[in-house]
Amino acid sequence: MIDFAIPAEHAALRERVAAFISDVVIPAEPRDLGPHGLADGLRAELQDAARRQGLLAPHVSPALGGLGLDMRGQAIIFETAGYSILGPQALNCAAPDEGNMHLLSVVASPEQRARYLEPLAAGRARSCFAMTEPAPGAGSDPSMLATAATRVGNDWSISGRKWFITGAEGADFAICMARTDASIANGRGATMFLVDADNPGWRIERVVDAVDRSFPGGHAELIFDECRVPHDAILGEVGEGYRYAQVRLAPARLTHCMRWLGLARRALDVALDRANEREAFGSRLGELGMVQAMIADSVIDLETSRALIWQCAWVLDQGRRGGRESSIAKAHVADAVWRIVDRSIQICGSLGVSGDLPLARIATEVRPFRIYDGPTETHKWSIARRELRNRRQP
Ligand SMILES: Cc1cc2nc3c(=O)[nH]c(=O)nc-3n(C[C@H](O)[C@H](O)[C@H](O)COP(=O)(O)OP(=O)(O)OC[C@H]3O[C@@H](n4cnc5c(N)ncnc54)[C@H](O)[C@@H]3O)c2cc1C
Repeated sequence: MIDFAIPAEHAALRERVAAFISDVVIPAEPRDLGPHGLADGLRAELQDAARRQGLLAPHVSPALGGLGLDMRGQAIIFETAGYSILGPQALNCAAPDEGNMHLLSVVASPEQRARYLEPLAAGRARSCFAMTEPAPGAGSDPSMLATAATRVGNDWSISGRKWFITGAEGADFAICMARTDASIANGRGATMFLVDADNPGWRIERVVDAVDRSFPGGHAELIFDECRVPHDAILGEVGEGYRYAQVRLAPARLTHCMRWLGLARRALDVALDRANEREAFGSRLGELGMVQAMIADSVIDLETSRALIWQCAWVLDQGRRGGRESSIAKAHVADAVWRIVDRSIQICGSLGVSGDLPLARIATEVRPFRIYDGPTETHKWSIARRELRNRRQP
């Protein structure tokens, strides 16, 4: 049975996080002016403030200084933090570090945990996750992985090109996915490597000029050129990269849904305020039927999104993989968030597309979410295939 009751400690934490976001984080938003992501100085300042209030790393185990929330707790707190674009960065629960922390906590050796996970959880390091490649390499279809790692004595040598790697510029290390078997088949043949930033075998060729700019370091194109790493740089076991990618991706795409849902709520609140104030044709905007329809559709999108997120969070908390549920949530929430923000802009008229309100900026931040962590169409394709298969073999 799914229990959606919010425990008292989560409700109390939500109050504290909401106050922190409105009193500390939202006032800092005008200082977030970098072209490729939040400046590391502002990020550190906000994280210091969160640390002082005992709000840092809500998803991390208390042994590593976090709050140890399960997925249902994260759903509540990440949505609350997401009310500001800067909120998840302030709490150190933003992508890609949050997903990497989860992956490392499940797969890393004790030495790797001490070296990579501990500083990441404490906010003393940043990381990136390097999987996607330009054509003809891996994108929606991870089996097209072209970056290759070959064994050289006790080392491995990695060569290939990655792009759209969030946070690579300024990261302390990368988790790089490479093929270690010429014939990738049956979900095997790829391996994850931990590559330090000061390794001379990889470099940033450029930071891509993407529409969003809230991720520190932006999204970079990387070249691995016979990049040598020792055997103990392997995360987990050789050949298990695709399996670990699933360990990371199902919860990571859900936590993205949680954070962006918070920002969609902010967009709707801005539109509600405008609809309550602005008058046209002898009434308030909010009294016009078509504006009310847009508001109602957005409320329905918000509530259905939250229900799907909580359902999937519950499934993951039961120790199940949640592949089906996280695909359904991702496909619905990414599109619903986009619709909510677009309707909010429409309700605000010209002001909605201006810099006087946060809506235009919010739109550019949420639009790529329909593409990364699996485009909507890829998830729908996988949902349909699974359903057809289950019907054939109940
Ligand atoms: C802002 C941003 C940040 C990112 N950060 C990272 C990162 O940190 N690390 C990383 O490794 N990658 C990252 N990515 C890459 C992202 O994961 C890929 O863009 C995504 O997997 C899609 O791959 P692609 O862009 O190559 O699209 P393609 O594979 O070329 O697909 C293009 C389009 O084809 C359609 N399509 C795909 N599959 C199907 C299907 N089965 N059925 C029907 N239509 C389909 C979809 O409409 C899709 O948008 C990021 C991307 C963006 C935009």
